[in-house]
Amino acid sequence: MIVDRQGRRFRNLRVSLTSACNYACTYCVPNGKRLVAAQDELSAEAMARGVAYLIEAAGIERLRITGGEPLVSPKLEAFMTAVGQMGLEDISLTTNGQLLARKLPLLVDAGIRRINVSLDTLNAAAFRGIARGGDLATVLDGMEQARAAGIKIKVNMVPLRGQNLDQVLPLLDYCLERGYELRFIELMRMGHLASDSNAFLQQFVSLQQLLSLIGERYEYLQADAPVDATAVRYEIPGHGHFGVIANESVPFCRTCSRLRLSSTGWLHGCLSSSNRHYVGDLLDKPRHQALPALQRLLVKALGDKQEVAFSGGATVMKIIGG
Ligand code: SAM
Repeated sequence: MIVDRQGRRFRNLRVSLTSACNYACTYCVPNGKRLVAAQDELSAEAMARGVAYLIEAAGIERLRITGGEPLVSPKLEAFMTAVGQMGLEDISLTTNGQLLARKLPLLVDAGIRRINVSLDTLNAAAFRGIARGGDLATVLDGMEQARAAGIKIKVNMVPLRGQNLDQVLPLLDYCLERGYELRFIELMRMGHLASDSNAFLQQFVSLQQLLSLIGERYEYLQADAPVDATAVRYEIPGHGHFGVIANESVPFCRTCSRLRLSSTGWLHGCLSSSNRHYVGDLLDKPRHQALPALQRLLVKALGDKQEVAFSGGATVMKIIGG
């Protein structure tokens, strides 16, 4: 097993199945153009082989399928079927929910039990303004159907000053009423926000600001979370839980166990580093040739992790998966 000086190792793999997305969220894509699939994207088979090799070479235990938007990818079914047979502890999915109802039978058959749905507002006009694609009612219906199918739902919201701060409490109420766990994600200095500090600071909402807003309506207590969790979790007694992924306010780099594989075959050991390591060519090789080479690259990828705090990076989340 590859372990660094801080005792960190890769346990959680996030695979970006495609860079294509049916949204163009303002904080993710500055020019408003939706991303399409890269021409050199790997096949479902090669990506699944990548997961199998990384389970062996890095000790991956948990997989999250993300994107781009994973549900738009024609590779989804073949990939899910393959990774479903690898004995992973957990397979989950992050989606914008637009195609959730349509893909639900496939997801249920593949054994998916947990889904994170990104939803920044319950206001249809604000939704169109932020996501620049999709339809709010379709997402809400998709979540409802997934819940009825027994899938546990977390909702990811990125609070943005001037755009959806008025939605923090309505969205929290909505989630608590339905048993969805709301996760606020502090805005990250990714993509264009890494170089435009003004744009970042104008929109950024901190953990403390969120907690004081929530404290106006609810009493909350800090709750337990796994050691390598990225979210600080809170309980609202008698109502449920919520979490905050506070990259800026409570950095979690010291315990980060994440590794990312992009749809074009690049390994990223850290969201905040522009270093990446190409493994696409290794995935066509037999195991005995691929694994030693992969291990050398994993040492480098682990070395890319920040010591203490996240500092941001030019990479767009849609390319390597949030
Ligand atoms: N399309 C899927 C979705 O919408 O969930 C998966 C990919 S998306 C990049 C994953 C998550 O990253 C979303 O919850 C999105 O809000 C978040 N995200 C993207 N850019 C971000 C940024 N600069 N700061 C914080 N979160 C960001």
